Amino acid sequence: MESLKTIAQNVKNCQKCVLAEKKNLAVPGEGNPKAEIMFIGEGPGEQEDKEGKPFVGRAGKFLEEMLAMINLKREDVFITNLVKCRPPGNRDPDPDEIEICIKNYLQKQIEVIKPKLIITLGRHALEVFIPDKKISQVHGQPKRLINKETGKKQVYLPLYHPAAALYHNSLKNTLIKDFKKIPKILEKIKNLN
Ligand code: URA
Repeated sequence: MESLKTIAQNVKNCQKCVLAEKKNLAVPGEGNPKAEIMFIGEGPGEQEDKEGKPFVGRAGKFLEEMLAMINLKREDVFITNLVKCRPPGNRDPDPDEIEICIKNYLQKQIEVIKPKLIITLGRHALEVFIPDKKISQVHGQPKRLINKETGKKQVYLPLYHPAAALYHNSLKNTLIKDFKKIPKILEKIKNLN
């Protein structure tokens, strides 16, 4: 199995899709290599592309604020995205870009970290892990599903994207309420295999 360092290095050298050509810096993801919680967003934005780190813009600050509400720091968890290079102009990543990036990098990161809980941020990450569900219907509800790639059971918690919550004020309180459920959910699932 490749180490997280090797995966990150491979992300930086990646030329597998057009996003690689247009980016400034690739954003492999970062955090605790033994994290119990892994956050998966959509893709790097402008600030992330400048710094090579995930969730460092406005949405990232909000994510950090919510982590602090449950006594966690970003170093305690692992934070990454479906795609590791910024889609130009912040367009949605294409399905084939998502597929290539997950297969080569995200899936491997999940296998190394083995998080207890994967938290999907926004509808794109939801669609990948819990297909055919609307975020408005499933947000804040943990789901235990078989990971298609590994064949192992995995618990997912779909949440609204922090950027969406900043944009639509009505979602902000919902996201905060869902976020505060994380410690209890983690406690409940800690001893599951
Ligand atoms: N939005 C995302 O989905 N990911 C980031 O890293 C930053 C903003």
